[in-house]
Order: sequence, then C-alpha cells, then structure tokens
Amino acid sequence: MIRIPVYQPDLSGNERRYVLECLESTWVSSKGHFIQDFEATFAKFVGAPHASSACNGTVALHLALLALGIGPGDEVLVPSFTYVASVNAIQYVGATPVFCDSLPDTWQLDPADVERRITSRTRAIMAVHLYGGACDMPRYVELCERHSLKLVEDCAEAIGTRLNDRHVGTFGDIATFSFFGNKTITTGEGGMVVCNDHELNARVRHLRGQGLAENREYWHDIIGYNYRMTNICAAMGLAQLERIDDILLRKSNLASAYHSLLKGCNVSLQEATKGEISSHWMVTVLAPDKNQRDRVRAALREHGIETRPAFHPVHTMPMYFTEAQLPVAQDLGARGINLPSWHNLPMREVENICKVIIDICTPTAPADSMS
Ligand SMILES: *Cc1c(COP(=O)(O)O)cnc(C)c1O
Repeated sequence: MIRIPVYQPDLSGNERRYVLECLESTWVSSKGHFIQDFEATFAKFVGAPHASSACNGTVALHLALLALGIGPGDEVLVPSFTYVASVNAIQYVGATPVFCDSLPDTWQLDPADVERRITSRTRAIMAVHLYGGACDMPRYVELCERHSLKLVEDCAEAIGTRLNDRHVGTFGDIATFSFFGNKTITTGEGGMVVCNDHELNARVRHLRGQGLAENREYWHDIIGYNYRMTNICAAMGLAQLERIDDILLRKSNLASAYHSLLKGCNVSLQEATKGEISSHWMVTVLAPDKNQRDRVRAALREHGIETRPAFHPVHTMPMYFTEAQLPVAQDLGARGINLPSWHNLPMREVENICKVIIDICTPTAPADSMS
C-alpha cells in the first residue's frame, strides 16, 4: 500500500472558487477570462512578453516546433536522458531527433556532445531543463548563434527555475511548460508556450486554434490543431500561480533537508549548473549501482513510499532504438531514483526516506579477514 506518493498536487487555495465560477457562468470551454488571466500572469512570472496556453506540455512542444517551421529533413539535437515527450514532438513534425549525451554532475544536456553532433541538416537544439535544474543556456545561445540554429527550451520540469537571475525559458527562441498533475503547479493537464517574438507567438496561436484566419469567420487558412486549454484548467492554473512562491520555498526546504540528511552516504545528488537557482521539481539521487538502486526502491515500497526510476534513455526504447552508446545517459537511467518531492511532504517522512536509503547505500565496514 502506497502511503507516500512521489507527487501530490495541493489545490487548497482559490482553485475551487475559480473552477466553480467557470461552472456557474457556464464558461467551461476554451473561451473565458481565466485563459487570458492565466496567460498574462504566467508571462509576467516568467518575464517573457508572450505566453500562449495549450492543453498539455507535449502539444506545447509540438506547437513550438511547428511555429519555428521545423519539419522533414531537419535534425533536432535532444538529450536521450529526458521524458519521451521531448523526442516525440520532434517526430510529430517529421524532423529527426539526434540523441545527445548528458553531463555526469548536473545531468543536463552536454554542450560538447551537442556540438560534436551538429551537421548541415541541424536546425535546432532542444535544451531540456531536468528535475528543476537548468541547462547551461549561455553556452547554447552562443552555439546556436554561431551555427544559425533555433533554440527550444523544454521547461516542463523547471517552473520557477532561474539561471543568472532570469527564469529559464527566456534564453532561447521559444520555450514550453507543462502543468500535468505532478508538475510544480498543475492545471490537471495543461501546457504553455512562451516566446519573445510577436509573430512567432501569433503563429503558435494560429496553429493552436484550428488555423482560423484572423479577419474572416469560420475561414481556416492553414491546417491547424485544436490544442487549446479550457477556462476550467486556466482557472486552476491562476489559483496555483497565486501560491507559487510558497510552493517553491517549501520545495527548496525539502531539497535542503534531503541534501543534508544524505550527506556522507554513498549516493549522489544533482549538482547545480553555474548561476542556477533550482526549483527542485523532483529530488533525485543516484545509487552506487543499479542493483542498489532497485534495492532502495523495493525497501521504500515496503515502507509505503512510492519512488520513480530516473528516465530510461529514449534511444534505448523500441521506437527510437539505436545501438549508439550514450554512457552518461545510460548510467543515470540505471542508477537514478526520483524521491517524493511534493511541497507538503512532512519532514519526518523525508527523514524516514533518508534512513532507508542510508541503510542500503552506506558501505558497511569491511568484514574481518578470515584469519
Ligand atoms: C512532463 C514533461 C513533458 C510533457 O508534459 P505533458 O503535460 O505531460 O504532456 C515534456 N517534457 C518533459 C521533460 C516533461 O517532464
């Protein structure tokens, strides 16, 4: 029986009141003031001029790549160590994902490996900010300028993450966020596309709303999609955003507790990129090896504590399988464990969780020799 889930949303603010307002006003579909309010408040929170909501984070990525005009024949550099949606979006537009390795300390996309894989067909880099940390964006901005590439940021796991005093998602050409139930703030299902450029944002909205022409009713001038967010979801999102500073503060305290309790034990935690303030979406540890990782997960399960394995590298999954060796991605995938990280997790549970980990991952003193 799972007593402590890996994640649990907190809807105890104005969520109920705003959602009820949708029901009572009958503005339940993808029109209504909460959509504009959520978009405007989110844009301000991130510090970006434009934010367009979408019905989840995966379609937000799809919209971002479509709006940039990426398609068949184009290669997009992407980490293999990520959630599968980052890669699927590349495939949806008919482009080719090119898998890159990750860094062993921050676990983010490895800029040197990315640079090695640039070809004449490369059109974009997709930097995925994992587990609340940040990729080294100044490196990617420079790389993209030098090679005339588009820079996409997948910020699904990085709501509230800052780098050099800027929110992630403001470094590249376009960025996306997710509000799935286990993300830092949630709308049930939901996503956001953020960018600096007015025209790019207009393309995102055009594609999102069935390709509806601007000045002619029920006239569609491109093949678009119905990727809109509902007013009900936006109502939840707005209420969540009102409390985001408190959520981020509690998550930061949890992460500090995990870090200090696990100090000295034989696991490693995610290190920060230079200039990063992590939002600590999901506290993750690497066990010394896969066997100990699986033992830790089993022991925690016995205590009623749910964990998740770190991402299986996408290039090892059947639909993207390649023989390529990406040693860091494979190592992280074999040894990583996501620990319960929701902001109201009681501190004594953090202590219990760490005790179980320490029991398994602290090498016992070498047994006395046979003599
Ligand atoms: C959650 C997530 C997504 C997709 O978000 P959904 O809202 O679940 O579609 C994309 N990329 C990464 C890295 C994610 O963690």
